[in-house]
Amino acid sequence: MGKKLLFVYNPRSGRGLIKQNLAEIIDVLTKGGYDVIAHPTQAAGDARETFARMAGEVDTVVCSGGDGTMDEVVDAVMKYAPAMPVGYIPAGSTNDFANSLAISKNMVEAAEDIVVGDIYQCDVGAFNDKHFIYVAAFGMFTNVSYETDQTLKNNLGHLAYVLEAGKQLFNIPSYHIMVDADGRKVEGNYAYGMITNSRLVGGMKNITGRAVDMNDGLFEVTLVHTPTNPIEVNEIIQALLNGAETSLVEKVKAKRVTIDSAEEIAWTLDGEYGEAHTHVEIENRHKELQLFLNRRKPVKLVSPNN
Ligand SMILES: [Mg+2]
Repeated sequence: MGKKLLFVYNPRSGRGLIKQNLAEIIDVLTKGGYDVIAHPTQAAGDARETFARMAGEVDTVVCSGGDGTMDEVVDAVMKYAPAMPVGYIPAGSTNDFANSLAISKNMVEAAEDIVVGDIYQCDVGAFNDKHFIYVAAFGMFTNVSYETDQTLKNNLGHLAYVLEAGKQLFNIPSYHIMVDADGRKVEGNYAYGMITNSRLVGGMKNITGRAVDMNDGLFEVTLVHTPTNPIEVNEIIQALLNGAETSLVEKVKAKRVTIDSAEEIAWTLDGEYGEAHTHVEIENRHKELQLFLNRRKPVKLVSPNN
């Protein structure tokens, strides 16, 4: 008897890429010894709900879509079946998580790599009662991903995010927050903050810092002070894109981060809306995601400096 595999895919991700590959992916997974139950997501939230409903009936879950679809699946896996191995076949327009781990962009090859069966124990973020796979952020740019519509994302890919982000440079928010990162405390006015476990965010390679390790139990925490003039805006952009030094951008590594504010602050988790909060507790769940990753071929990890 084959093991049961739930294949949850977003048929709209990345220009509907899955359409040309679906039959072959299911064939590869079946040849790999799985009985495949395929579920095209019907709406936002459906990937999460489908896994929650079927967690007790399957041995494995494979997700195909963008980072948002993977976020839903991983959140549900962590809640309902944390030991279950998870496979990822990236199909979105910006796949930071998959690129960080050098998961194949060729969908059939990504499926072939899953059936090899090797597991990579990846860190996962806990965010209050939710989970995220690679980024929790607030402030400037964070509404870019979910405000950029799917048609625009499909047609322009990464450029759609950049265009939307550009518009926001003229309307920079400021939040007064208290941050505790493994006991190191800061308080002040910040325009942007991100807690990441990724070599890329928004397709940008230098933005999370250097020597990023996705299973070291630590996040990279980046906090951007509210700029007060265009020169400071430019300094911040140079720091984020090229790693230039500035006191306007603080970077630390931490396992546990709490952020408190008097006002509610809207968050984004893996590019999806993560609701507004006055208190967030973020914790690195070390090696808790059992991710299929083929480690038998040379891994071309993204170097932090190119
Ligand atoms: Mg890490």
